[in-house]
Amino acid sequence: MAKRDYYDVLGVQKSASPQELKSAYRKLAVKYHPDKNPGDKVAEDKFKEASEAYGVLSDKSKKENYDNFGHAAFENGGGGRGGFGGFGGFNSSDFSDIFEDFFGDFGGNRQSSRRSSNNRGSDLRYDLSISLEEAYTGKKQNIQFSTTEKCITCKGSGSKPGSVPDRCTFCGGNGRVRSNQGFFTVQQTCPQCAGSGEEITNPCKDCSGQGNKQASKKISVTIPKGVDDGTRIRLAGKGEAGTRGAASGDLYLFINIESHDLFKRSDVNLFFEFPISLADAALGKTIEIPTIDGGKAKIKIPEGTQNGKQFRLKSKGMPFMRRGDFGDLYVQIKTEVPISLNKEQKELLEKFRNIENERSNPSIKKFFQKAKEFWKT
Ligand SMILES: [Zn+2]
Ligand SMILES: [Zn+2]
Repeated sequence: MAKRDYYDVLGVQKSASPQELKSAYRKLAVKYHPDKNPGDKVAEDKFKEASEAYGVLSDKSKKENYDNFGHAAFENGGGGRGGFGGFGGFNSSDFSDIFEDFFGDFGGNRQSSRRSSNNRGSDLRYDLSISLEEAYTGKKQNIQFSTTEKCITCKGSGSKPGSVPDRCTFCGGNGRVRSNQGFFTVQQTCPQCAGSGEEITNPCKDCSGQGNKQASKKISVTIPKGVDDGTRIRLAGKGEAGTRGAASGDLYLFINIESHDLFKRSDVNLFFEFPISLADAALGKTIEIPTIDGGKAKIKIPEGTQNGKQFRLKSKGMPFMRRGDFGDLYVQIKTEVPISLNKEQKELLEKFRNIENERSNPSIKKFFQKAKEFWKT
């Protein structure tokens, strides 16, 4: 039997746009869908014919082949390009997208919740700010957030207590819809019951058949020691409840570490700037510095310590996450040139300047030597 021209099947011009093709197919699919015409062989054939035509014309390269070679393009060993046999390269996901579209229409005047039933719950994000000290020690914290929880009344089933769901009328309880279209078969999860095969005929009043409800939830979370800014902690199953018994989503804690007045952090190391007077830097001194654990540490600043000199205190930094060891603390010396000197201080410094010599300021000596050589040339 001669095959009808695909354009004739869809009732469109050869120049039809993808939109026009889709809309033409949609009309036919809605009209002849087997579920709407049970037992009607003619309707079924029309549906298959339209689906086949659309399957080809909606695909750019297949359309091109069809336009050039007609039906022969799809016959094995036919006049098409070598190796182009039937629907080997058919992208079924494109097709199921279309189905989704159409079946969405079928279900248009039904409760949309039905179509999204049995889905895993959404993941949630919770931003949590903690101090550096808390990141050091780790902590337990209660957090509160709004989410969806399983409905207690119906235990998540969505059906009024005492009643049970019916078989889904769309898929007959199969959970899947299937269409045989000559040389290929499209099978997908039933868009009406999302694969459960059930339809809630007597919905629970508390949740309108959803199986879950909006709720404010409070949980205790453990922040491990050593978390860093941007650390993401996944709490499996603590997200939104899935619909009708499907798995819950996850809750992700996004950690933000507040900036600290004294310590700067880089990975597991801490940096700390310690200001000392010029006299202390020159004469040396033992200083006491704060540590992140709330304690103190002593550092002996030797005589003649220069500005910017760094001291490392081993294992006084942040803890490695899920490990027993620690980073280091780096203390950087910042010498301060005195200001607002009184008369006596000035006199003493004048005196000091007069007795300063080259040995006490080696860098200055070196600089002037270089400058002198430069001016000579
Ligand atoms: Zn309920
Ligand atoms: Zn169904």
